[in-house]
Amino acid sequence: MDPTDATRTVHTPVPEEGPSAPLGTPLHLDHTFAFPTAEAMAGAFGDPDGPYLYGRYSNPTVRTLEAALAELGHGTAATAYASGMGAINAVLTALVGGGDHIIAQRALYGGTHALLSDLERRWGVQVDRVSGTDPEEVRALLRPTTRLLYLETIANPTTRVSDVPALAAVAREAGAVTAVDNTFASPLLFRPLDHGADISLHSTSKYLSGHGDAVGGAAVFADAGLHRRVWEHGLELGACASPFNAWLTLRGLKTLALRMPRHSATALEVARRLAGHPAVRSVAHPDLPDHPDRVLASRLLVSGGGVLSFDLHGGRAAGAAFTEALRTARLAPSLGDVRTLAMAPASTSHHRLSAGELEAAGIGEGTVRIAVGIEDPGDVWKDVEQALGAV
Ligand SMILES: *Cc1c(COP(=O)(O)O)cnc(C)c1O
Repeated sequence: MDPTDATRTVHTPVPEEGPSAPLGTPLHLDHTFAFPTAEAMAGAFGDPDGPYLYGRYSNPTVRTLEAALAELGHGTAATAYASGMGAINAVLTALVGGGDHIIAQRALYGGTHALLSDLERRWGVQVDRVSGTDPEEVRALLRPTTRLLYLETIANPTTRVSDVPALAAVAREAGAVTAVDNTFASPLLFRPLDHGADISLHSTSKYLSGHGDAVGGAAVFADAGLHRRVWEHGLELGACASPFNAWLTLRGLKTLALRMPRHSATALEVARRLAGHPAVRSVAHPDLPDHPDRVLASRLLVSGGGVLSFDLHGGRAAGAAFTEALRTARLAPSLGDVRTLAMAPASTSHHRLSAGELEAAGIGEGTVRIAVGIEDPGDVWKDVEQALGAV
């Protein structure tokens, strides 16, 4: 058979593998995979570890990221998603249905908080909220329908640390799954699966990719059966990871072990200096000696991470003035970036909330969150100091 140009231009040659191999992860954009036999293709449906079939099921570049994250998180398997919210949505809606009960930490990422409220209001899921540090509080709320305990390792923006091992043990006794959003810590500072959790969740948009250029999420599972359940549900949800973003995340991952200690050390240094400044009412970072969860943090976390928050005398106006006066750091949402990012929730993300509502969310009128980057630590502090002068 001698094909014509119209066929030749479609079926261009695919390079053969030679004796040498690329060092990096190849970027496979393909979402459709061809099989030698119908039987081989039939076998690929419904198996997260089976042959590649279609991009929403898996893809070689995405699966490489999943293998890396499973290994890094001490899990048996992982699924990558289009975003952190995609991962959280997949886990919550795979494991919980109408009439089921969730016990969740009170201070949660805004998107997760909104999703839980939605599940409660429109889908008949019951949700109880807890502090995240008291196992007896969890025990008292358990019901026969409790399916899930949902925690965050380090809460935003308070930097409170949750007692994952104690709380997960209570949930396990009751047959409930524990899922922990570990975005703020990354697997290098804390591995939820080593402490009794069943699922570790990440917005890979943050520290794992590290450069603010790839939205993505991941769920790492201790148990293969649970992985399969959530993966299958994810096929319906459709929040699959993009191969290019998986490739960027793998690239970012290579420097994670250099970045995390730097983020933590600079954040602690800035927090220490802030604590002595007259414009500052209070400072929170898990490595500060007067942090309310200091003992827990030193037992569980390698270090406290790159996010700190502080309260300015002078309320909303002071918070806005401070973030607008920053020069090296940028007024921006997000965290886990190589660049220092800062925002004052009361005048930005939470500007509609009253003083009372802010307080209930653990946010002060003059609270500023800084997600410290990997710039020169002295330059980061000088910038913060000059911005405090503008308040
Ligand atoms: C950013 C973030 C998310 C959501 O992740 P996206 O990738 O933006 O969807 C969830 N949890 C935490 C703790 C986050 O910081």
